[in-house]
Amino acid sequence: MSKNTKIPELSFHAFFTYQEVTDCVNSLASACPELCKLSSLGKSREGRDIHLLTITNNKTGLPEDKSAYLIHGNIHAGELSGTHAALYTAQRLLSDRINLLNDIVFYIVPRLNPDGAEFVVTTSGPVRSRTDRSNPIPNTLYPGDMNDDDLILSMRQEHPEGSFLIDPQDSRLLIRRKVDSKGPFYRVLPEGEIYQWDGTDKISMDGRSFDWNRNWSYDWRPEPEQHGAGDFPFSETEMRHMAEFIHSKSNLFGVLGYHTGPAAVLRPPSTGSDSDLNEADVKEMEDLARIGSEHTGLPVFPVVKYHNKRGRDINLRGHFHNFGYHHLGLFVFEFELGVLMNSAGISTEQQFEAETSEDREEQMRQLMKWWDAQEEKVPIYMPWKICQHPQLGEVEIGGFLRKHTAGPTLTDLKRISEGTYKFTLEHASKHPHIIMEDAKVDTVGENIYRIRVRIANRGEYPTHISSKGRNLRRLRPVRVEFHPCEGIKLLSSQGHCNLGHLGGITHSNMLEWFVSGSESDKLCEIKIFGGTGGNIRKVLKAEK
Ligand SMILES: [Zn+2]
Repeated sequence: MSKNTKIPELSFHAFFTYQEVTDCVNSLASACPELCKLSSLGKSREGRDIHLLTITNNKTGLPEDKSAYLIHGNIHAGELSGTHAALYTAQRLLSDRINLLNDIVFYIVPRLNPDGAEFVVTTSGPVRSRTDRSNPIPNTLYPGDMNDDDLILSMRQEHPEGSFLIDPQDSRLLIRRKVDSKGPFYRVLPEGEIYQWDGTDKISMDGRSFDWNRNWSYDWRPEPEQHGAGDFPFSETEMRHMAEFIHSKSNLFGVLGYHTGPAAVLRPPSTGSDSDLNEADVKEMEDLARIGSEHTGLPVFPVVKYHNKRGRDINLRGHFHNFGYHHLGLFVFEFELGVLMNSAGISTEQQFEAETSEDREEQMRQLMKWWDAQEEKVPIYMPWKICQHPQLGEVEIGGFLRKHTAGPTLTDLKRISEGTYKFTLEHASKHPHIIMEDAKVDTVGENIYRIRVRIANRGEYPTHISSKGRNLRRLRPVRVEFHPCEGIKLLSSQGHCNLGHLGGITHSNMLEWFVSGSESDKLCEIKIFGGTGGNIRKVLKAEK
């Protein structure tokens, strides 16, 4: 296929609202109907469609008959960069019209959390995953715009027990109070209102916060064992849509999710250690992660080592990586596209090493200095402005725009998205590939025919993908159905057969059937269900 110049370039000037994401996916699908179809994974809690792009060369077969690779972004509300990275891959797949689209299908869900993302992109307010705040808890502060500037920032108020003071080195920053600090002291709260406030200082910030990347089925644990877990695995509507989609696709062989935390290529495991996984699988995941790292510059971490402080691992229960490996048997990855600190030259390792509040404050000063020196920039900080709060009296509202500090600069994002696209192509090109070769029909007697075909996996990966996948029921072994055409009789003792899993590149099976019949030159239809390696249907004829 030759390059397509009709595909609009993706704009990296600002994060997208839901309407802009909708316009973008619509424009990709309508510019390239032969390669791209837009549908919906289902509705979000607030009723938005969760857009799904299905990208493949439709002339070479149906999507469900090809090996499938899934990309999702923006599961976490504030991680808007993930939407851009996912859309970038979609845009490039369509404009480059790579040959890989003949053999595989890409499913792309650019914004898995459209409600949360809309809240963040329009207000910059804090929400991890779910926006719904029904069943509020008394004395709890819920984010909201209190001064009609359409933004949800931070509130500060002088208070004798305040934990912060203005940084003498950079007056835009607030630093932690210490024993010998001099006032005035401030308490700092998210901008918003306190539900059923009793007038005391015991204001809670917890509400009920969900983390949709703790809602997956493998090793799910309830609160308080795992913060943000939800009520039960896939209790969250959007996660259920995604899980149902994933489980309906037996052709799925690779998954990549986009997040924005300190820059990293993340791989399983999310709990325990590498020794809990198959050794060969760990090696393959590490090798793939290195490829991701080479293309993007993001450092590699097993999830359990990410945010690791002083060698203490952090187990994440109900996490996507463990689900992907243990329940799907796949090599799954999440790319943390970075935070603004990474763009400012403060590495992920340095961010994790900052243990004391002084360390972190020093990094914030570095960030501000770097920001001041940038020529083109979006505002990341709003000066504090006095506001009369209906409950707290006079407060100041201002501080950081979380949506711009939670990801890399848009310039860096574009460069990293290019790298993740290359990684995806490399990972995806290893797909299992079931083919039928050497199909041959011989006449061996009067109206008696011998049919032979070779069924092979010529892709790099075995059909069970990982060693873990070998024994998982959802990774289906290769199954062959033999359907004699009308008037044709099967003479062999077996028609349909199971081939088991096929290894990569050189693993093949020669199959043979004998049939008799004279009514038709069409002898049989052979259907191969190759699981992750794709499906084939073919009618074989006698030469008459
Ligand atoms: Zn995330």
